[in-house]
Amino acid sequence: MFTEDELLPISALQHLAFCERQWALIHIEGAWAENARTSEGRLLHEKVHEEEFESRGECRTVRSLRLRSFQLGLTGQADVVEFIQTSDGTTVIPVEFKLGKPKIDNCDEVQLCAQALCLEEMLHVQIEEGFFFYGRVRRRHQVLFSRSLRVETEKLSRTLHALYKDRKTPRAVYEKKCESCSLIDICMPKLVRRKSARSYLESIITEEDYEATEGNLL
Ligand code: SF4
Repeated sequence: MFTEDELLPISALQHLAFCERQWALIHIEGAWAENARTSEGRLLHEKVHEEEFESRGECRTVRSLRLRSFQLGLTGQADVVEFIQTSDGTTVIPVEFKLGKPKIDNCDEVQLCAQALCLEEMLHVQIEEGFFFYGRVRRRHQVLFSRSLRVETEKLSRTLHALYKDRKTPRAVYEKKCESCSLIDICMPKLVRRKSARSYLESIITEEDYEATEGNLL
């Protein structure tokens, strides 16, 4: 069990699931680069959090609900939680707002599952499913909180705490996903991949540059 002071942000799980180095740059080194995508995402979340709750029929919608799990050591905020009255009691459904469309990897799903695990611990309920609402396609996308997704989320939370304790930033490994990473200019994965500054310079200077310096540029 974790204490209040040891809780780490749920959002860190999504960064960690995407790339360990991205997580470390943001959460250990305090780096953040806003691009068009992240700023649109931030504005979308601010809009979602404007009203706190509303009721429609059997559904009560609560926005900006604070979340925490002492078991996983996580804290955060749900965009929306729906409480639906049924003949069997109350069904609780977390809904997270995202830009764009469903992703190929499951970084977002882990984040939503962590929200569900927090709600289960806080409210003593079982939560079977959650949804993403994708702003661009304006559609809900269902996420089932399967056993394997729960296990993966718990494992990632343990990794998160272990890495946070170590406070080390891993070296960059360039992959295709780097091209969609908001931190690519800070991380410079292609540069880190090269063995030396010399080999980097060799790759960026042109033949004319080299000849102009009569071979003394390097
Ligand atoms: S640029 Fe690539 S290696 Fe660097 S933080 Fe982003 S995903 Fe990770």
